[in-house]
Amino acid sequence: MSKSIAKKEKRGMYQNVLHQFNKAADVMNLDPGVRKILGTTQNEIVVHFPAKMDDGSVEVFTGYRVQHNNALGPYKGGLRYHPTVDIDAARALATWMTWKTALAGLPYGGGKGGIQIDPKKYSKGELERITRRFTYALGNNIGPDYDIPAPDVNTNSQIMAWIADTFASNQAPGQRFNSFHVVTGKPVVSGGLEGRDRATGFGVVTTIQKWADLREEDLSNKTYIVQGFGNVGYWASHFMKEKGVKLIGVQDHSGTIYNEDGIDPEELLAYATDNNGGIKGFHKADEYDKDTFFGIDCDIIIPAALGNQITTDNAGMIKAQLVAEGANGPTDTDAEQILLDKGIEIIPDILCNGGGVIGSYFEWLQNKRSEIWKIEDVLIKLQDKLEISFDKVIKTAEKYDIDWRTAAYVVAMERLEQTYTERGVFP
Ligand code: NAD
Repeated sequence: MSKSIAKKEKRGMYQNVLHQFNKAADVMNLDPGVRKILGTTQNEIVVHFPAKMDDGSVEVFTGYRVQHNNALGPYKGGLRYHPTVDIDAARALATWMTWKTALAGLPYGGGKGGIQIDPKKYSKGELERITRRFTYALGNNIGPDYDIPAPDVNTNSQIMAWIADTFASNQAPGQRFNSFHVVTGKPVVSGGLEGRDRATGFGVVTTIQKWADLREEDLSNKTYIVQGFGNVGYWASHFMKEKGVKLIGVQDHSGTIYNEDGIDPEELLAYATDNNGGIKGFHKADEYDKDTFFGIDCDIIIPAALGNQITTDNAGMIKAQLVAEGANGPTDTDAEQILLDKGIEIIPDILCNGGGVIGSYFEWLQNKRSEIWKIEDVLIKLQDKLEISFDKVIKTAEKYDIDWRTAAYVVAMERLEQTYTERGVFP
């Protein structure tokens, strides 16, 4: 089979999700009606909207919001600005959010979306106008008690502030200040939560520590590599440094670097910030081959960039003991089997990066109650919730003798199945 045909036959992201879902549904013998409901997305919103460019011309953009399920509460999940955003990616990411919020025990469902765009090609003013028109196009398909977006790849607190402002500006005057929690991940002064910026990376490291405790491993003797040095990749590296774990390789959209003596995440962040967000050319590390990055001899891999990065093309070369999925869907299902056969453990995305949505939940609660939370309290509560989820996953994996991803799905789906059983299906 030619390589191009083999590539075409690779599963799309949504097919990966359905494969994982069906595997878990078989294990737990999920109710057939609930299986049909959860195997389908509830709403799929596609909008085409115009925005003015700096030179006075007009461009039309395509935005997506997929709402997978809201049995447990409002739809919740990020908005991504990236050329790979399409209906398949939005469906997959929305469905993962349903499992993630259910696993974390939050009163949320799952949604996800974004704009198919390379934001690096646009000025700040253009991005603001694009964001505001996208928000306007979504209209009441989002809302503080209905569907609550958050940052994801290439979106940040500034973009959330524009969304909140645009959404609020379109509400009746008396409702404006009561609608800022339409998004989480806002800047702190605009109602954001102290610590939301680091919540996902902190959560990733919390789950790695749980793994180390379970396996009686000393993290301070370990080395790791990270793919993606944005919000999740940087903050995970920051907290890994606090535990004394040595970062020896980093890959992002701009390049791949390696230093067996260690790379300081804070120095790398300072460099990347001055270098348009890219790590390429960092003077205290060597350039490294892009295609063999995951084969670097290290103990832990943290994928913290895009989906489908660990595939059958590179899974065989992985030497690490552990893959901690900071990103959503970084490991495709065939690659996962290769890793499991090699005895490599995987902390699955819906558990590993769940700190982000837990932090978002705290922000939402803070806004709803007009409270201001302290960062110390946020991190303690976050760690507590993640540790509870981790223990449930391990217990379920042991009960059914299944891998951790399938176990995480079972925990999430048991909660969803129970709520459908209790409430029934209307009418
Ligand atoms: P970000 O935009 O802050 O950073 C993305 C990083 O990925 C950047 O360093 C970029 O250079 C890198 N990247 C992009 N394309 C790449 C490529 N082809 N190869 C290597 N690196 C590449 O995004 P983020 O918020 O850190 O999100 C990263 C991942 O974590 C995504 O999968 C996202 O869905 C997931 N996630 C994010 C959050 C959150 O709170 N931000 C929560 C849960 C999960």
